Amino acid sequence: MTLKTPHINRRSVLLGGAALPLAAAASPALAAAEMMGVGTTRFNRVKLGGFEVTTLLAGTRTVPNPQGIFGMNVDADTFAAASAGANIPTDAAQFFFTPTVVNTGSELILFDTGLNPAGITAALGAAGYTSDQIDTVVLTHMHGDHIGGLMGDGGETFAGAKYVTGAVEFDVWDMAGNDTFEAKVRPIEDKIAMIKGGDAVASGVTAMEAFGHTPGHMAYMLESDGKQLVLGADFANHYVWSLAHPDWEVKFDRDKAAAAATRRKMLSMMAADKIPFVGYHMPWPAIGYAETRDSGFHYVPASYQLML
Ligand SMILES: [Zn+2]
Repeated sequence: MTLKTPHINRRSVLLGGAALPLAAAASPALAAAEMMGVGTTRFNRVKLGGFEVTTLLAGTRTVPNPQGIFGMNVDADTFAAASAGANIPTDAAQFFFTPTVVNTGSELILFDTGLNPAGITAALGAAGYTSDQIDTVVLTHMHGDHIGGLMGDGGETFAGAKYVTGAVEFDVWDMAGNDTFEAKVRPIEDKIAMIKGGDAVASGVTAMEAFGHTPGHMAYMLESDGKQLVLGADFANHYVWSLAHPDWEVKFDRDKAAAAATRRKMLSMMAADKIPFVGYHMPWPAIGYAETRDSGFHYVPASYQLML
């Protein structure tokens, strides 16, 4: 009873305005602000030499039971220990879908398109671009979360654009009978330029074979005025479970051994040369650095390095 009395008194003070001094009654703390839910930005623009590189948050969602996707070849205790060590839970993960648009000064090049036209169009709009400004759409691979924005009820989202993708990747999906590919890519197939590793999409934009996640998955090296950045796409899909543990198997990697080898090769190169990278599924805004740590790598989000 003695504990309860002060509580009742405080409540009566808060609700009984007549007895309050005027200043307390007018306190902003009495106004119930609307709960907004978690929020973030839709775009993040940095510069790379003479290029402007804008990551676009085309979508994000919470996914339960992440060990159903990451670390399929390790036991639950190992997964839990790695997660706890990085301060992230094991019962859910937040997924991000992050296309990138690069303005080279002469061309506006979009890399991947998100899950649907609405997501990519909204993020592009937030960044100050319209879909009809896109000169070239590059598809890193043909998973639905990368090709989903190409086509909607209104037809082609980027009707004025050229399309570019890897020949190896296209040829696999061309024969696969995949519904999403047939809906999103088949209608534009005659407009797609097929390239291979080492080919340039534009000056300073070079394709790199990063096979494994899918058979023809490609990353891209951007280079302008001596500065480099890798658009890594899905070579690594989680900043802890794929960087600290490149050999952990990932459900969505078609060839798990090849994907792990690609991760190690790319992360080693980026760590050695201190090259920042955009990862399509890295935590928003999806730009960071890889450092070597133990037998794997550590993800360091970019701070202001690319604003200077
Ligand atoms: Zn993906």
